[in-house]
Amino acid sequence: MRPECLYPLFAPVTALPGVGPRMAPLIEKLAGGHVVDLLWHHPHALVDRRFSPKLRDAPPGRVVTLHLQVERHEPSATPRRPYRVLCVDDTGRLTLVFFHAKVEWLEKALPVGAERVVSGVVEHFNGEMQMTHPDYILPPERLAEAMTIEPVYPLTSGLPPKVLVKATKNAVERAPQLPEWIEPGLFGRHRWPSWRDAVASLHNPIDEAELSPASPARQRLAYDELLANQLALGLVRMRLRQAAGRPIKGDGRLRQAIIAALPYRLTGAQQRSLAEIDADMAARLRMLRLLQGDVGAGKTVVALLAMATAVEAGMQAALMAPTEILARQHLATLEALAAPAGLNIGLLTGRDKGKGRQRLLDRLAAGEIDLLVGTHALFQEGVAFRDLGLAVIDEQHRFGVHQRLDLAAKGRAVDMLVMTATPIPRTLMLTAYGDMDVSRLDEKPPGRQPIDTRVLPLARLHEVVGGVARAIAGGARVYWVCPLVEESEKIDLAAAEERYRELAGLLGPRVGLVHGRMKGPAKDAVMNTFAEGGLDLLVATTVIEVGVDVAAATVMVIEHAERFGLAQLHQLRGRIGRGERPSRCLLLYGAPLSENARARLNILRDSEDGFRIAEEDLKLRGAGELLGTRQSGLPEFRLADLAVHGDLLAAARDDARLILDTDPDLQSPRGQALRTLLYLFERDAVVKTLRSG
Ligand code: ADP
Ligand code: MG
Repeated sequence: MRPECLYPLFAPVTALPGVGPRMAPLIEKLAGGHVVDLLWHHPHALVDRRFSPKLRDAPPGRVVTLHLQVERHEPSATPRRPYRVLCVDDTGRLTLVFFHAKVEWLEKALPVGAERVVSGVVEHFNGEMQMTHPDYILPPERLAEAMTIEPVYPLTSGLPPKVLVKATKNAVERAPQLPEWIEPGLFGRHRWPSWRDAVASLHNPIDEAELSPASPARQRLAYDELLANQLALGLVRMRLRQAAGRPIKGDGRLRQAIIAALPYRLTGAQQRSLAEIDADMAARLRMLRLLQGDVGAGKTVVALLAMATAVEAGMQAALMAPTEILARQHLATLEALAAPAGLNIGLLTGRDKGKGRQRLLDRLAAGEIDLLVGTHALFQEGVAFRDLGLAVIDEQHRFGVHQRLDLAAKGRAVDMLVMTATPIPRTLMLTAYGDMDVSRLDEKPPGRQPIDTRVLPLARLHEVVGGVARAIAGGARVYWVCPLVEESEKIDLAAAEERYRELAGLLGPRVGLVHGRMKGPAKDAVMNTFAEGGLDLLVATTVIEVGVDVAAATVMVIEHAERFGLAQLHQLRGRIGRGERPSRCLLLYGAPLSENARARLNILRDSEDGFRIAEEDLKLRGAGELLGTRQSGLPEFRLADLAVHGDLLAAARDDARLILDTDPDLQSPRGQALRTLLYLFERDAVVKTLRSG
């Protein structure tokens, strides 16, 4: 249970004064739906209103607080013209300008002859000094209220800055004192503020230095966030490891049968990874290994050979894929590869229901199925293996830590192998996986044809279409990728549909369309038709990213390539270049292209090495934006910026390790405080795995 002291922070934002049903959705979109989300939404600038010159000395374009006398009102001549209030001090004149004015309110706020304090930006316009919509209008005795330094927050359209500032202020006031969870030595060395003080000073910056991610308050909060991340990952790992593993050793008979029938030899990297996996499986400790390899590096066969070992040892194995299409593809691949070994392979997805499903489950429980392939349906209630020894998760950057927890709950002491194609630089690896053991497939199978990648403006689309038509005439099969940005999914989908109609008009009926809004069976049908050669060109939104393996596809066109993350482009491109024939990828960009965007696309043009691409992208963009972190499934941090706080990540990892060594169930007073930290960063799922304290 979440500790009571955090209740006020996990109330909906509507609990804050001034946040009603109209503002709440805007705040939710911007920062999140709970009070705590406002604490993490930090200012990027500040306004200093303490400068209070005479009118003569007030510089245009700057925020000032002025002491004025109201001279007269000039109501709007027409509704479109502004309402003007003329003011003076003993050095000059200034006109306050209001559009769509509420006259009654203005007459009350600025009575003729009265003295008023106004704060806002001074401008020169038509030879007079003006201030449009002052931020403050106050009687002189309330001067102090205007003479402040205010934080400026990133906004979303429709949300007035004042509403957000006020809501955040109230959120900060609700922030309780929390027990200190940071290790005392570290805390003292950095002279960090307490959590509550850090939050307060984050939202009350008094100078530019306090806005910087290197400020003590930001550092402290970034450390909190990283520590929560590392501790959560550490706990997951510990849970998975806790059930002592079983040594799984095979006699090599099935594996040999499979290898003997392969039309190729395993690469050095595949053999090395297999040896590492074998050693883990043979050990008594539970295996928790990441198999990292670029698209096309050949992870599948490595996974299969590991699973064969489990079967040799009399156990079963499971392979979980992130989508149904991918699960079916794995099934087809594995069936072909495993046939010489006579393995029985089953498929279980969310679509399987009724009698068929029950029959499958019966065979699974009886041990008649050696390998079960599927989606996360594999780990639902009611799915019981006779003896599951190894679980392989094809992560394709779509799963998170909680799925791994589900899995841990399922098997007893099951060895785990996680496959990922995300080229994650080492620092980020730590935030996504914690201290997992890693095998890297850093060598591609031989004989791969390099992909000829070109970067072109969208203006040359008709040439591209001409080239595509010629390629098809020569027997090529083509992917045509349209971007899909979540925010305007409808518009993007419409664009994809229009492109489809256009290309079908030009190229004839052998053009298909597949997108994420289509139902599973319809999607599969189109994909299969394309794979089997019934279509020459497939217009697709990014659904093909984790999609099918079509060796005959040799051309890929990507529209608005500049809108994709580099990792995503790299993954997409990995769909071609799989056969013997040379492949070509055309990255079309919408002009004008910024220097930086051009540099990024050029990285892709010049390299096919996912790790190099990731490192280069990291250099260009900084970790915060790496490769479109959202698509890549890497954790997004609210306060930590790995480009600045990389050393804090290392410290957090070391500290998390130490904590779990000494107080694995977080029972000590500091352990209790750390539980609060985990709840604060919404790691409720991992806290639930702890013994109650
Ligand atoms: P990944 O899952 O890592 O993206 P796959 O396992 O799908 O890659 O393999 C990509 C392709 O490479 C498949 O067609 C597979 O048959 C082939 N392949 C795998 N290992 C080798 C190898 N050692 N030599 C030649 N081809 C290989
Ligand atoms: Mg694969």
